[in-house]
Amino acid sequence: MSLHGEYDTDNIFAKMLRGEIPCVKVFEDDTALAFMDIFPQSKGHTLVIPKRAEARNLIEMPGDLVGSYMQRVQKVAKAVSKALEPDGMVVTQFNGAPAGQTVFHLHFHIIPRYEGDSLKGHSHGQQADMSELNALADKISSCIE
Ligand code: 5GP
Repeated sequence: MSLHGEYDTDNIFAKMLRGEIPCVKVFEDDTALAFMDIFPQSKGHTLVIPKRAEARNLIEMPGDLVGSYMQRVQKVAKAVSKALEPDGMVVTQFNGAPAGQTVFHLHFHIIPRYEGDSLKGHSHGQQADMSELNALADKISSCIE
């Protein structure tokens, strides 16, 4: 799917927002939902999605909603940093399939980096152990300020 097109209301993140499929939740308010990536590229890989817009990517996000959404991205990034004390952190976002996007509801990735650990592949590979994901989500959640 290219940068331009129709928002699909049946994308998996829209289904999570409607509670139709589960996610391992880290944070939620009326602006954003944050949850653990099920194919984590590193320990603690977290996604933050906006609630109030049908935006496939950052380009489509209404300008007046960007600020409040980005505050949530920062809030969750700070909690990941505090909870897991990584050596670094990638905060990233892809726009359109040619750029690497695979789910077409706007999301930011928060990917902790640890010295000496290589990054796992993007959006493929082994599904995370659910009890491990739940424990990480609890730890990050407890550091939300
Ligand atoms: P994108 O490729 O669009 O930037 O990122 C989509 C992300 O969603 C990927 O990192 C992928 O691992 C993650 N993902 C795909 N399917 C699911 C799912 O069913 N649950 C969760 N929690 N994450 C998913």
